[in-house]
Amino acid sequence: SVPETLLEVSGIEAGYGKIAVLHGIDMRIAPGEVVSLLGPNGAGKTTLLRAIAGLLPWTAGSVRFDGRDMRDAGPRESARAGLVHVIEGHRVFTQISVTDNLLLAAYDLPRRERAARIEEVLETFPEIAAKRHDKGGALSGGQQQMLAVAQGLIRRPRLLMLDEPSAGLSPVLVDRVLAVVSDLRAAGTAVLLVEQLIEKALAVSDRVYAMAQGRIVLEAKANEADLPHRLERAYFGQD
Ligand code: ATP
Repeated sequence: SVPETLLEVSGIEAGYGKIAVLHGIDMRIAPGEVVSLLGPNGAGKTTLLRAIAGLLPWTAGSVRFDGRDMRDAGPRESARAGLVHVIEGHRVFTQISVTDNLLLAAYDLPRRERAARIEEVLETFPEIAAKRHDKGGALSGGQQQMLAVAQGLIRRPRLLMLDEPSAGLSPVLVDRVLAVVSDLRAAGTAVLLVEQLIEKALAVSDRVYAMAQGRIVLEAKANEADLPHRLERAYFGQD
């Protein structure tokens, strides 16, 4: 049976050395759900994604993924368990081909599955498939961003965490990347999306959390009336 909760974050506290950044974060994501994580610069969104992905140790609280305690998992184990993190401004290897970039992302999959998985993700991104033999550096910024997402998808994650996938993209390419998020949702893949483009993020999301100063200050369904206005007030601490 499908568990109701895929990711359960409870009371997470984390930071950098003596600097506390996350002050007790609670968050849930159901299988196949698209959830936006919004908030002003410095709110702690990237730090939360890093903690969930096993890149940053937390000092209190717990992360459960697919029923499993992720305390000692680390980034590799997390990715193997189906929790994949595409970092902000991820840059692909510019001197090797698109296909080789994908092959690198597939390095720990069984050898016999790699080629099929590469074809699978290339089908999702026709604009990259057309350039599969080109070097990564020959792709536009938007295409490189798509290749970064494709590298994440090659493991068929159950939860894909995207940190500002629209950063530096033209409006048309932003729409294209967010259309991929909608496709993932339709295919049953859960997504945790950090975005600055509030309206666009809400348009592809089921639910939303807003953070400010290391705390969750709002949780809502993405289609709730007046949400952009409520979000703005939550950001500035008047909600
Ligand atoms: P942005 O949209 O600007 O990335 P964010 O919500 O993702 O914002 P974080 O990047 O998580 O916020 O930053 C939260 C806080 O942690 C900020 O005060 C930031 O200065 C601090 N911080 C981030 N990375 C480090 C680091 N490596 N060392 C020390 N402090 C850091």
